[in-house]
Amino acid sequence: MSRIPLVDLAAAHAEVAAEVETGFKRVLAETAFVGGAEVAAFEQEYAAFSGLPHCVGVANGTDALELALRAVGVGPGAEVILPANTFIATAEAVARAGAAVVLVDCDPQTYLIDVEAALAAVTPATRAIVPVHLYGQLAPVEELRNGLGGRDVAIVEDAAQSQGATRHGRGSGADGIAATSFYPGKNLGAYGDAGAVTTASEQWATTVRTLGSHGGLRKYHHDLIGVNSRLDGLQAVVLRAKLARLAGWNDQRRAAAARYHHLLAGLDDVVLPVTLEGNEHVWHIYCVRVPRRDDVLAKLNAAGIGAAIHYPIPVHRTGAFAHLGGSFPHAEAVAPELLSLPIYPQITADQQARVAEQLAAALR
Ligand SMILES: *Cc1c(COP(=O)(O)O)cnc(C)c1O
Repeated sequence: MSRIPLVDLAAAHAEVAAEVETGFKRVLAETAFVGGAEVAAFEQEYAAFSGLPHCVGVANGTDALELALRAVGVGPGAEVILPANTFIATAEAVARAGAAVVLVDCDPQTYLIDVEAALAAVTPATRAIVPVHLYGQLAPVEELRNGLGGRDVAIVEDAAQSQGATRHGRGSGADGIAATSFYPGKNLGAYGDAGAVTTASEQWATTVRTLGSHGGLRKYHHDLIGVNSRLDGLQAVVLRAKLARLAGWNDQRRAAAARYHHLLAGLDDVVLPVTLEGNEHVWHIYCVRVPRRDDVLAKLNAAGIGAAIHYPIPVHRTGAFAHLGGSFPHAEAVAPELLSLPIYPQITADQQARVAEQLAAALR
């Protein structure tokens, strides 16, 4: 029987192949390799999709986070609060911006940032909180905003896994600024590295664009110490073709998640994912919890099921950030149990039934 991958990038490509080919020809004819008309068009289309006036394309999601943090004033001497249960890039971006990483625990049910812990960690040095919209659902940003009251702390959303997700009808970035990644496996994936920052603030958008263009918007006028972080024309072609299909693909992901809920409901050992009330989930990852996870994962992989783990090691237990110390009991308790099952828009009911059968067998 054929393998069931964690993510099927070939199936997505098949749907956009013709459009991508004609778009690539356009970019090649114009030699518009960095920036250009395709990038400008994509930025407008992604801003509109996000319900925000500004989108700035950058080179990857980690840069998007770093530049968004710098745009809101994060730098040396600042503290930035983020969850211990996230991809390492969230912490790297804070460190790269020159600020201190302040980790907090996750909610034991959704694995999203624990809002009370985040608010309790705020000090006079706190410049930003980074809620991570893990697995495809938004963290309760409005609770953070309300809890902060009038304090001058920015909310910089890590929206790398949540393209198209909403909470109470609002998308990410509406409360400040959001950074996203178009790494190939994301819900909206390029054919290489790419990322973007979205915001309602014209000033922050301009700062991100300036920082990403060597600190200046006019050639050879460098007002800030910036970086080289721009979106490529060829990637913009891919992103435009896929963006046109993203809402439909997210619907297909929701249908696939509902099928998993149904298929797995009878397995007593499996803890199903919980969606926060008010959230429209986009199921970047379908994450369950199981006992003896490493053994279950090995059996699934041996049976041709591309299951994986997001994430096996909390940030404070990685070599890079072990010096922070700290103890985050929920993050530490769930890390050895988390298991991501294959999910992508084109996954079939038969494939999902096979995943469920193999998972049941592995748990026996
Ligand atoms: C993918 C991802 C990133 C980083 O994106 P890159 O484009 O790989 O730099 C940051 N945060 C989270 C939660 C991610 O999943």
